[in-house]
Amino acid sequence: MCGIFGYVGKRNNASEIIFEGLKTLEYRGYDSWGIAVRIKNKKEFILDKNTGKITAPNLNKNKFKKNSDFAIGHTRWATHGRVTVKNAHPHLDCTKKIAVVHNGIIENYEVLKKDLIKKGHSFLSETDTEVIPHLIEENLKIEGFASSVRDAFNLLKGFNAIVVSFAPSSEIVACKTGSPLIAGGGDGEFFIASDISAILPYTKKVVFLKDNEMVILGKKLQIFSLPKGIKIKPKIEKIEFKVEEASIGKYKHFMLKEIYEQPKVIVNLAQNYTSEIKFLSGVIENAKGTFLIGAGTAYNACLAGVYFFSKISHKHVNTAFASEFNYLEDFLNKNSLVMALSQSGETIDVIESLNRARNKKSKIAAITNVLGSSIYRMANYKFLLNAGPERAVASTKAYAAKLSVLLLLSYSIIGKTEKAKKMLLDTAKEMERILNDNKSKKKIKEIARLMSLNSHIFVIGRGVSYSASLEAALKIKEVSYIHTEGLAGGELKHGPIALISRGTPCLVFAPKDETYDSIISNATEVRARGGVIIGISPQNSSAFDYWIEVREIEEGSYIAQIVVVQLLAYYIALYKKLDPDKPRNLAKSVTVK
Ligand code: GLU
Repeated sequence: MCGIFGYVGKRNNASEIIFEGLKTLEYRGYDSWGIAVRIKNKKEFILDKNTGKITAPNLNKNKFKKNSDFAIGHTRWATHGRVTVKNAHPHLDCTKKIAVVHNGIIENYEVLKKDLIKKGHSFLSETDTEVIPHLIEENLKIEGFASSVRDAFNLLKGFNAIVVSFAPSSEIVACKTGSPLIAGGGDGEFFIASDISAILPYTKKVVFLKDNEMVILGKKLQIFSLPKGIKIKPKIEKIEFKVEEASIGKYKHFMLKEIYEQPKVIVNLAQNYTSEIKFLSGVIENAKGTFLIGAGTAYNACLAGVYFFSKISHKHVNTAFASEFNYLEDFLNKNSLVMALSQSGETIDVIESLNRARNKKSKIAAITNVLGSSIYRMANYKFLLNAGPERAVASTKAYAAKLSVLLLLSYSIIGKTEKAKKMLLDTAKEMERILNDNKSKKKIKEIARLMSLNSHIFVIGRGVSYSASLEAALKIKEVSYIHTEGLAGGELKHGPIALISRGTPCLVFAPKDETYDSIISNATEVRARGGVIIGISPQNSSAFDYWIEVREIEEGSYIAQIVVVQLLAYYIALYKKLDPDKPRNLAKSVTVK
């Protein structure tokens, strides 16, 4: 996960530049953060490390503020070592001349650490990362800085991205095998970051570092292939697009803002992408086997897609968690299509799966929300959700957008795109109604208060609504920390119903489709055991203790109904006095395995 940002050059406020960059990158990890700064004409780094959210670094408050020309920073999502100041990055070598920030997991760090301790190096943290500066320090005894970094990096096992700065030489060297790194600049200064948004305020000329490449930023920008370090020509791209700024506007939280943006996102997809949808549905039709992959909310959207393609286009499409796909890909061949869904376009599990699919010559389609992201760039066929930046960690509008695209694709396969477009416009209207109707909002808040007092919640649905149950449960647990389980209604009596006791809340998705009668029976079974039933349905039922209306819009109902649980999750978090935008232990972009 983590955000990385580095600067070397002619300005004298490097620590401020890094601080601003880290604020942009905070969504990638926010348990702790730090900066290593070189004061002009000095030959070592000074650290400022902190736990918690990013606030102005102490360094900026003192005399160094306008006196630093070289700095790197990091916002961490801990994998190895607790969330402490000592474990925050950057990490230094024994001489304090080498500063390292790292994204990933060094799978063989224990062996490397033992060896370094034997050689006399002392370690200050519990992280895997700290082996890197000491390995480089060792190598520096016999070779130059860049080759020392290269040789240290070649020893690391796993998916890693590292940025290393060496105070005496004014050079940054970075290498990667997994997470994204983008270098940019020229004209006397260079930047490096894990997301282009941190660099674009300063330069439009960037290089997207590929896996197994190393970049040196010093007097100029040079690229080398790994492991050997053979010089290659940098592919400098001029970025024409603007990274949209996400401002919170009149809303209290980004999550609420993004929930309210959904009707607009759906209307945009319904009105503006007919030819892109036609093209991509043709690709699906021609593929001999399509696999949808994703993680978290994106996986839940994939599962909805499987039902859509079956129900609407009578087409068999498979799905798997991206993290499980690696163990399922043996049958892929050059005629297969792997379609990846990812809001950020940076999910490491998805990238790893796509790399394997690519090695088997399968075609790759990407449905993502971030232009220029790793997944977007590696795909043969690309579809941008254009949902606008999503800042809250719990995904809402990107989910609605993914379902809308999958619905359009399913209808496009049977030549009925116009029907899907009309359905989506009706869906957007229904969402607007739910979002703006004071009576239903009041009811949602009342139910949220009730749910906030419980330690277990169940959500059931069948068919497409089973996938909605998984998404609902994910949303609630992410932001409220209440254990919530999403289930296929029919599975309840095979075990989970044992957990229902007096007062256990159970959300029931009961759209008027082929699942209606069976899911109402399941709701009744829960109610008979003391469960409190909250029905989300076009019509009330005697099985419900509470009813929230979502009007009938054929398959559009599956998209409209999710807004109810998004709001429930949001208000439960508020009742529990939690920050829905930055839930504990999570990060927006999941770039470690
Ligand atoms: N494994 C490193 C750590 O735990 C880096 C984690 C990250 O990518 O933020 O500190």
